[in-house]
Amino acid sequence: MDDITRVLEGLGGIAPRLETLYKDLHAHPELSFAETRTAGIVADGLKQLGFTVTEGVGRTGVVGVLSNGEGPRVLLRADFDALPMEERTGLPYASTAAGVMHACGHDMHVTCLLGALELLAGARDAWSGTVVAVFQPAEELGEGARAMVEDGLFETVGVPDVVLGQHVAPVPAGVIGCRPGPAMAGGDTLHVRMFGRGGHGSRPETTVDPVVMAASTVMRLQTVVSREIAGSETAVVTVGAINAGTKDNIIPDEAELKLNVRSFTPEVRTTVLDAIARIVRAEAAASGADREPEIEPIASFPVLVNDAAAVDRTLGALRAQFGDAAVIDPGVVTGSEDVGYLASASGAPLCFWFFGGIDPAVFGAAAQAGTLAKDVPSNHSPLFAPVVGPTVDAGVRAMTAAALAWLGAGGPATG
Ligand code: ZN
Ligand code: ZN
Repeated sequence: MDDITRVLEGLGGIAPRLETLYKDLHAHPELSFAETRTAGIVADGLKQLGFTVTEGVGRTGVVGVLSNGEGPRVLLRADFDALPMEERTGLPYASTAAGVMHACGHDMHVTCLLGALELLAGARDAWSGTVVAVFQPAEELGEGARAMVEDGLFETVGVPDVVLGQHVAPVPAGVIGCRPGPAMAGGDTLHVRMFGRGGHGSRPETTVDPVVMAASTVMRLQTVVSREIAGSETAVVTVGAINAGTKDNIIPDEAELKLNVRSFTPEVRTTVLDAIARIVRAEAAASGADREPEIEPIASFPVLVNDAAAVDRTLGALRAQFGDAAVIDPGVVTGSEDVGYLASASGAPLCFWFFGGIDPAVFGAAAQAGTLAKDVPSNHSPLFAPVVGPTVDAGVRAMTAAALAWLGAGGPATG
């Protein structure tokens, strides 16, 4: 019997408990940086498995380390925050917290990682090295990974040789999606304040009008992607909010813009952010503003870049587990994830993959009827509801197989 088979032997035995755990987590979602109940459950679980546990890393994050002789240090990551929205699945284990829902499936990530850790901890003769489990808060804000790193994550758990993570997705359970290189968009939120000089609406010559300044800025920002980004690249610049003034005959003192930026390479991101700053300042100067505008970065998700060699090695193990046909390249995803920060901050390569969470029968029927979008709610939908059994099974097997692809070999089989 090979190492992976030996480790996965335990899955059938723990599956019912994992299903119960998933339903409990799903019923008790917690918002970003408020995941205290979840963190407590995770910490207790890790301690029972023999991990050395540190709590409160990056406010509510939890990390566990299990050393098992010489060998690579493999970081396995799950995020655990929920979203501020009302669940409408009608499931018997639906959210019991008003206005909070595990609509991104992070409860599934926690369940599958704890399952994989239990299997690894229970078969220590089948591998060698160090397993580092990172349970990350506040992914939805794009702040949790950074908060953990800045709170000394790598001083606590050591610098990993690889960072592995997974996300449940609205494709059939048993399907794995992963691609090398840029895989998910970088996202930036900027708040811009532009300062004019207010006065009476009848005497514009005595003022610097921030409404005109902001309007001109919004139009000029439309040229960033169309004129400064190559046709072969892509980016999005959206001004989602513009606020100024109170009354028709008062020229206000200032205007506020809220911008969202998406990009897929660090170079394009830098070009876009630099262009925005240049245009905002230049439009203020063109209007004759006395005061420089303020550009405040509110949130930033890095571009998720999968290391090509790490993807190769990991997908080799996942293909062996799920079959060649079930492992697909999903293309570049426009959503954002901050797991890449754990890799860039430590210098370790990253492999992050998607695993299906939809009942294959339901998915097949919807695809056949051509009603996929309507019948299969995706992440962040109030109807998002992964099918528990096969999804937990696939997520645990994927995380375990991926970890073993990086850990050292075990001793001789005893059974
Ligand atoms: Zn999400
Ligand atoms: Zn998510």
